[in-house]
Amino acid sequence: MTPLHFFPTSMQSEKDAQWQATNLAVKKLVYLNQDKLSKAMAISDAICRQLKSIFPLLDELVRVACPWCPEQCCIVNKVWIDFQDLLFWHLIDQPIPVGQLNCGDKAACRYLNHRGCILPRLIRPWACTLYVCATQNKCLAKIGPLVEKQLNTAIQLIKDQRIDMETEFIKAISKTNVT
Ligand code: SF4
Ligand code: SF4
Repeated sequence: MTPLHFFPTSMQSEKDAQWQATNLAVKKLVYLNQDKLSKAMAISDAICRQLKSIFPLLDELVRVACPWCPEQCCIVNKVWIDFQDLLFWHLIDQPIPVGQLNCGDKAACRYLNHRGCILPRLIRPWACTLYVCATQNKCLAKIGPLVEKQLNTAIQLIKDQRIDMETEFIKAISKTNVT
């Protein structure tokens, strides 16, 4: 049986150490600039609300489409936690995943187990949340065009909000560096 993680433990540890260092740097920036981050925090709260509004539908799509999937995306696709994800989790004060998703090009996601993704939805990467595959799209179409439209609208809104959140964060950090 092919192991899920084929990299030597030392290489994985090194990647995890880099991840922890990046995570700590963002945590420190958020902590040191709390008084300047009200706009970024308000946007992150709005993202949180939008995400929670689409989670029940996304869970339903997983329920009807994923158990019988012959080519699970969490094994074959390669996605990563990005800076906006990390910033968002720090701004809404969520526990941060212990490391990046994949350990190498041929590794399945470290957060995948036999029952699916073990990460709570709120701390899954945005790349995972917004991915609606062809099978799920067919299921979505059966649910109805209105729901489909609502999901697409929410996804676009969250995309825009994530950019705004990052922009406000960078503005706040820049002010700190100037003064
Ligand atoms: S989201 Fe689509 S590709 Fe991924 S496991 Fe579910 S059915 Fe398969
Ligand atoms: S974090 Fe979860 S949803 Fe994303 S690739 Fe890994 S197992 Fe799949």
